[in-house]
Amino acid sequence: MEIGLKDSSFQVLFDDSPEEARSVFTSVALPHLHKIIGGNTFHPGSFCKDCKIAGCCGALERLDGFLGQSTPGFATRSVSARDIELYETCPAQWFITRSQFLPREYSTGPASQRGRLVHDWIARAHSRSIQCTTQDIGEFDDPDSFTSTLSRDDYAEIQPFLAQHVEVCPVRDGAQIISIESPLYGYDASADVIIASAPDMIYVDTDESLVIRETKSTRREMPEDDAEAFDKFFAAPWLLNLFACGYRGPYQSSSARLELEVITADASRVFEWDLKDEGVLRMAQKEVKQRVKSWHSDATWAATPGRHCTWCPVKGWCPEAEDDDESGSWTE
Ligand code: SF4
Ligand code: SF4
Repeated sequence: MEIGLKDSSFQVLFDDSPEEARSVFTSVALPHLHKIIGGNTFHPGSFCKDCKIAGCCGALERLDGFLGQSTPGFATRSVSARDIELYETCPAQWFITRSQFLPREYSTGPASQRGRLVHDWIARAHSRSIQCTTQDIGEFDDPDSFTSTLSRDDYAEIQPFLAQHVEVCPVRDGAQIISIESPLYGYDASADVIIASAPDMIYVDTDESLVIRETKSTRREMPEDDAEAFDKFFAAPWLLNLFACGYRGPYQSSSARLELEVITADASRVFEWDLKDEGVLRMAQKEVKQRVKSWHSDATWAATPGRHCTWCPVKGWCPEAEDDDESGSWTE
């Protein structure tokens, strides 16, 4: 029987004789067990934190020292740049969603919903392996437009952002795409943490450099320079830190760079940092080290209520959730 923790609802999953249970086990469960026992492929994920061979698994990148922490935390965990941003908003929200996996109610704010739509569109457009053009973003009813799976309203909402992406689309002639939104997992042995990253795109440019391209859409002001972009978007130091820890992609390229594409409704700009810039790699290491420190040593996960409670997917579980009335209306 399965019982709903929140509302005491229940449903009977199986109600029969032991013989029938044995027969279902043999026909349904056993083939899966045989598959697991005979498995010889690796599919890393954040769940690698629970795997006893994470320290020597060849499917994980060696990222020793990535977090800059000299000792392990209280448990083997997995972390991404987004985890740290979530933790900085509210440690309890991180703990409930990313560690305890309690059911969530999806109530994303308008900014994250728009960001997700833009990301999905770009990923699908790039999987065609052709450069995005103004033709792709014509009228919704134009058969030459690439509207993907978007509704008319969603398309209208993100079209200005897509128009800006077209100006700086990286899929040019000669560029070779290695991966689109493929997660990358590594292991930091000093901190005993699985490092999760999800670069929007990895490609080899015409100059044979390995390039990580990360795209961010925002309604805020365009950063004025590389330094401001580095400070505003934690993904920049996080991904640069991969280079600092020795990540060079599948071909061990000797030249590499990070491109951070920032798109607003009326502008786009690509900020770039090169592997050869040792000063910037040191800055990235320092930034990651500082921002990860509290998360790494935390064991209490205190709630920090605020206006962000409005969009918290686990506020139903949280006794400290701030009322919508108290938090006021949430705008980007
Ligand atoms: S560390 Fe991850 S990828 Fe490697 S064997 Fe364990 S679960 Fe699989
Ligand atoms: S409801 Fe508010 S205080 Fe509670 S976990 Fe969510 S963000 Fe944190």
